Amino acid sequence: IFHLAVRSHMSEQLTSQEVIQLTKDHNYGTWRKQKFWNPNHLVSADGCYFTDGNGKKFLDFSSQLMCSNLGHNNKAVIESIKKQAETLAYAAPFYATTARAELSKLLLEVLPEGLTKFFFTTSGTDANEAAFKIARMYTGKTKIISRYRSYHGSTAMSIAATGDPRRWPIEPRGKGQGIIFSPEVNCYKCPLKHSYPECGIACADYLDYMIANEGDVAAVIVEPVVGTNGVLIPPKGYFKKLREVCDKHGVLLIADEVMSGWGRTGKWFAIDNWDLKPDILTTAKGITSAYVPLGLCATTQKIADFFEDNYFAHGHTYEAHPMTLGPAVATIGEMRRLNLVDRANEIGAYLGEKLNALKPKHPSIGDVRGIGLFWAVELVKDQKEKTPFNTWQEKLDGKPIVVEQIAARMLGEGVVMQAWMSHFVLAPPLIVEKEDIDKAVAALDSALVMADSLLEQPSVA
Ligand code: PMP
Repeated sequence: IFHLAVRSHMSEQLTSQEVIQLTKDHNYGTWRKQKFWNPNHLVSADGCYFTDGNGKKFLDFSSQLMCSNLGHNNKAVIESIKKQAETLAYAAPFYATTARAELSKLLLEVLPEGLTKFFFTTSGTDANEAAFKIARMYTGKTKIISRYRSYHGSTAMSIAATGDPRRWPIEPRGKGQGIIFSPEVNCYKCPLKHSYPECGIACADYLDYMIANEGDVAAVIVEPVVGTNGVLIPPKGYFKKLREVCDKHGVLLIADEVMSGWGRTGKWFAIDNWDLKPDILTTAKGITSAYVPLGLCATTQKIADFFEDNYFAHGHTYEAHPMTLGPAVATIGEMRRLNLVDRANEIGAYLGEKLNALKPKHPSIGDVRGIGLFWAVELVKDQKEKTPFNTWQEKLDGKPIVVEQIAARMLGEGVVMQAWMSHFVLAPPLIVEKEDIDKAVAALDSALVMADSLLEQPSVA
């Protein structure tokens, strides 16, 4: 039953209020108690900006969900969608298609070397599900080691492998997926209480210890640069050690590049910054710049060879859907034409400078860190202890979260920035201009005064 008197003739255009009400009443709002969902009505988007139902324009400084890397309204990608729809809108996955062949050829050029066999999905979540199953089938082992402060997806196994407490509401029913957690790699606030480089990368040694004691470990999954949970960048030497630990135990290494891939870090893939050779790489988001939903699970030839004579027990109706593959070819073409990977480096350095300049002005800023066009500003209520303003339980309960309140102020100024627990993730489309960066940083600068003022009141917990 509609809660609003919505006109029965849908051909009449709905008002923004009706759009919002129908959406709220009949759709689930994700990752929240439903009563806390107040969606805005997005009407159109162009470049780094989108417009809502009131005609208000917003600077999209999070590329929606760190996925609209090319920006909105890219004509070449839109054309490719039309062309694919007119030529071959769907083919069952056991057929060869031109889009699939063209994309495979391009992937061999842009993916890190050694990844030669592909399974196309429709999201990052199911790319990881495929990776877990492939790792288990290939190794004949069960356990998967993930890390706290990670996100790997929302279906049964990928949420169980998610280290951040978004998995709490489905536990304990979600347990028993054979997932175990290791401490995150966080040189700002090391969970092992070490500091780099004196630590000798103790977190990688800890993993060695874990695998030796657990036994039956099929794979380790890492976000090479942790995304939503705060753009955590591993120290130099970490991946070399991680690769050695995995090889020592015959454990596969899965790089989850769902968010960190496609130019975000100033390289095609984040691991290109360290020359890591994973056994499996998963990705999604930027692969089509979010124009259509596509995910990818890519494996080495060694894994591929195993399945020549072993049953590949996996598949979907919408796997390798032509409507997703054609636009991915166009997306890669546009990234190359606009030289966006190098651009992310150049303009990302400018963003980094501006953010670092905020640090001395705001006592609430604990850390500024980033790579390419992927930055985080972490807030603390106590510089020495690095204590966050809020706890995870408060977030799950829908209590006020300081960074979200600051983000709401920025929204008032027409800037969208992702606020998460105790930090902001800054990840604009790779086409972002310096003026857009100036605007976003200025909005952050003025809104941060609120967090600074909380520091002066010791009673505020
Ligand atoms: N892995 C990582 C690192 C992600 O950031 C995400 C999405 N934010 C996922 C997996 C899941 O991808 P999707 O939302 O497309 O299912």
